[in-house]
Amino acid sequence: MSLFDDHFASKNAASARAWAMDSDKNGDKKKRHEAAAPKMGVCDKCHKEALVRSYRTRQTDMGDGAASFGTVVKYYCEECAPKSRRERDADVPQLTSKQVKNLMRSAKKGLL
Ligand SMILES: [Zn+2]
Repeated sequence: MSLFDDHFASKNAASARAWAMDSDKNGDKKKRHEAAAPKMGVCDKCHKEALVRSYRTRQTDMGDGAASFGTVVKYYCEECAPKSRRERDADVPQLTSKQVKNLMRSAKKGLL
């Protein structure tokens, strides 16, 4: 019986470790996606002085035959800011009346 207990305990410890690693990763991701506050600066795209936000972009450099990957911080004004997919979708909220009716219907169903 003690053999089973040992096995169970070590398995538990392993999954606890895996969970801790996962939550570490998630915390990191959250930190990276935190919205940066706008501040006065020069836009990297139109070079106008405006309220800019910092954006991290991935960059790949080829040097000495080896590729290096890095993150560059660019500053863009509201006009030049790269839109996230969610924002782009929000820009075109074009639902047909039929789609709206369907949405309303499923919403009502969800409430019942
Ligand atoms: Zn700009």
